[in-house]
Amino acid sequence: MRIARNATIIAIVHRIYLDHNATTPLAPAVVERMTAALREEFGNPSSVHHFGQRAKAAMDDARSSVSRLIGADPSEVVFTSGGTESDNFAIRGAAEALEVTGRRHLIASAIEHEAVLNTFRALARRGWTTTFVPVDQSGVVSVDSLRAALTDDTALVSIMHANNEIGTIQPVAALAGVAHERGALFHTDAVQSAGKIPVNARSLGVDLLSLSAHKFYGPKGAGAMWIRRGTRLLPILTGGKHERSRRAGTENVAGIVGLGVAAELARTKMAADADHLAALRDRLETGILRAVSGTAVNGSGERVPNTTNISFDRVEAESLLIALDLEGVAVSTGSACSSGTLEPSHVLKAMGFPVHRTQNSIRFSLGAANTEAEIDHVIGVLPRIVEKLRSLTRTPVRA
Ligand code: PLP
Repeated sequence: MRIARNATIIAIVHRIYLDHNATTPLAPAVVERMTAALREEFGNPSSVHHFGQRAKAAMDDARSSVSRLIGADPSEVVFTSGGTESDNFAIRGAAEALEVTGRRHLIASAIEHEAVLNTFRALARRGWTTTFVPVDQSGVVSVDSLRAALTDDTALVSIMHANNEIGTIQPVAALAGVAHERGALFHTDAVQSAGKIPVNARSLGVDLLSLSAHKFYGPKGAGAMWIRRGTRLLPILTGGKHERSRRAGTENVAGIVGLGVAAELARTKMAADADHLAALRDRLETGILRAVSGTAVNGSGERVPNTTNISFDRVEAESLLIALDLEGVAVSTGSACSSGTLEPSHVLKAMGFPVHRTQNSIRFSLGAANTEAEIDHVIGVLPRIVEKLRSLTRTPVRA
């Protein structure tokens, strides 16, 4: 075959997406319904005329779908711009509402998402006392360590349901029970569990729960907060009387509609997806541990079915991520490269792992569309990539 001079040869790489904890592709039904909403439900939901009421009805449907997903009453669901805003709303809103009680102490776990950790740090700068409770080497917060951290001044405890880096599920119901015994409110960041495993806000016993649409095939910039009826909370966004005066601002109707469809899909497909994902995750995990020497799984016990976090001895996580990307495989690392140095993952650090292990770990987070063939491909390419990276490492990453 002759190729014309200057012809560009484009290699078509089959890309394998294993970074669903970062974000998920939109479900086709979500795109379809959102497109219709953008076109037809453009009215302002606060307007009393037909167009406004049509948008409001679409939002009400979405609110019902979200409340069905988490076993809640629609009146307790407030739409937000996503997980970060929901976490801020829960923490800042509760702190402000409870300030008058004299309680000035906040507790979170050391493995929370930055949306919680940095909100705590911001409040600490304004005079709040903060405590970060440790986790054990399996990545779980113990009820005893929370009990030890609680004081009569504790206003709020914020402990995530599932961790975004390692997937471990926290004993939220037991932790919330202990917090309530001392009169503290309990918030859980369920951004990585809602839509993946059954989440029932009421049986978890929490007061506040955050979720985000783009983690379960919905759009970015749309999320919700569940507020148990009667919970003292002040809005962080003030303005009009939207969302029953709990979150001001004209609503992102199309985003909310997309969240609703994603919630409905998640509720009906969850059991089948979870079986599929757990089987693929276990295949990937055992395949890697068998094919690549010096590997170990980070985090154990109950985990969300789509997540595994694996450390690779004598390999820098960032280099492995880039090498895998060149092979068409998208993964992520909890450690971040800033100004040429690799920041350790705060989650793995909190689990007590040595520095090298906090910098050599990769998160694989699977999604419903991943296949056995894709998993086998990843297991197939890894030994060669890892061997090459190890041969290039002059100073071993391993301490
Ligand atoms: N909380 C957790 C556990 C997360 O994993 C994320 C996103 O990665 C967030 C909060 C923030 O959510 P959003 O991207 O919707 O702001």
